[in-house]
Amino acid sequence: MHCQEQVSDHKCGLIKGPHFDYMKKLMRIDIPKDAKYILDTLSNAGFESYIVGGCVRDCVLGLKPDDWDITTNALPSQVKELFRRTVDTGLQHGTVTVMMGDTAYEVTTYRTDGDYSDGRHPDNVTFVSSLEEDLKRRDFTINAMAYNESEGLVDLFDGCADLKKGVIRCVGNADDRFSEDALRMLRAVRFAAKLGYDLDPSIYGSIKKHAKDLSKVSAERITTELTKLLISDHPEMIKDAYETGLTSVFFPEFDVAMKTPQNHIHHCFNVGEHIIESVRVSKNDRIVRFAMLLHDIAKPEVMTIDEKGITHFYSHQTVGEKMTGEILRRWKLDNDTIRRVCRLVKNHDAGKGREITPAFTRKVVSVMEDDFERLLEVIKADVLAQSLYMREEKLRSIDRMREQYLTIMKEGDCCMLKDLAVNGRDLMEIGFKPGPALGDVLQKLLESVIEEPSLNERDILLKKASSFLKDFS
Ligand code: ATP
Ligand code: MG
Repeated sequence: MHCQEQVSDHKCGLIKGPHFDYMKKLMRIDIPKDAKYILDTLSNAGFESYIVGGCVRDCVLGLKPDDWDITTNALPSQVKELFRRTVDTGLQHGTVTVMMGDTAYEVTTYRTDGDYSDGRHPDNVTFVSSLEEDLKRRDFTINAMAYNESEGLVDLFDGCADLKKGVIRCVGNADDRFSEDALRMLRAVRFAAKLGYDLDPSIYGSIKKHAKDLSKVSAERITTELTKLLISDHPEMIKDAYETGLTSVFFPEFDVAMKTPQNHIHHCFNVGEHIIESVRVSKNDRIVRFAMLLHDIAKPEVMTIDEKGITHFYSHQTVGEKMTGEILRRWKLDNDTIRRVCRLVKNHDAGKGREITPAFTRKVVSVMEDDFERLLEVIKADVLAQSLYMREEKLRSIDRMREQYLTIMKEGDCCMLKDLAVNGRDLMEIGFKPGPALGDVLQKLLESVIEEPSLNERDILLKKASSFLKDFS
């Protein structure tokens, strides 16, 4: 998938120079076979059809779209008649999902949106007959372009020019568009973060004015945009969300962090700025990025200042684990994500200021399980967002943990209960009664194996277990 006729540019792979409009007409997008089949089927049946929105924007930029959305003047019932496998995804909003093999294509009838009075869904949508009406309801100029092979690019609001300039601008008046749907404010920041663009000044001022309205928007919709912001190339643009007043609505804890100083030799930023920097330098992984966003979120709660004026944040890891759980539940994240992010937050200081021995590393692996490598990413990003003081030593200690981890994996050292040479049934055979005590014994055996891997032999462990028998049975 690529766009022909594109000339490279610092912001995007877009056409430039005096032949701008002419080149735009010539622009060709390679539409995948299945999407083209859907467009052709609609047009052979006498309907208009275009690819639209994000996929057009991405193609103009020379990026590979995640998915291909199609817009048409055919009504949902007419779309359903034309394709063998369809799913009624959002019929009331005019969307039919057409399945082609394993790939889903959303085909949406031209529409305008009613008010979003509950901030969640438009109250009603009205099907309209022209593409122009449909493009007008879309949020940003760069998201309001359509394309098909016979007409080429349809760009009624100068989306291409904004791609070239690298700005996010609303279709129409920003105040009006944000009043209709407050989520668009956060979307503006996340598209700027995804593309490395600026918010048009008109947008910036307008978000400041309307930010509080984000409180009308459902947590699920906010979380979708926040997640995309975090896993973008510029997650540090969360700062724009803070400066425009958006975080105060869905993440007030962050606003407090932005006002919490860190007067300590290991730090050069306040808590909020440190969080932003740690997110910026971290690996682009959804779980890691959420962990960075929340790793120090409890610092304002636990801060103490000693007689020398030095700030301390004792127990911020465990208090942070609790706060993280509360925040992520409020954001309606799934349980698996919550469990992983909480565990990373709780352990983000593992190894800090201590000697890294193989037994210690095995212990951390046993706690982190399949997120051990993520923990190393978290610790590294945390260090890189601190002052330069002892940075080399801190990074070396991460390297040491990584090397030891590789050896542990190579040797197949047991770090988890599932790898222990005995299980609950074995213990019952030598006289233990079923119940919680059994778990405690297994845990004790695991601890001894973590200290000394060569103990992970059935006979050795059973012997050790029988010595606990009188205490535990
Ligand atoms: P991405 O590839 O990052 O998902 P996208 O442009 O496909 O980007 P979506 O959220 O999937 O973004 O939305 C698809 C299209 O629907 C957008 O390009 C835009 O035209 C339109 N759209 C989505 N949400 C809104 C909204 N809240 N208000 C107006 N238009 C919207
Ligand atoms: Mg999309």
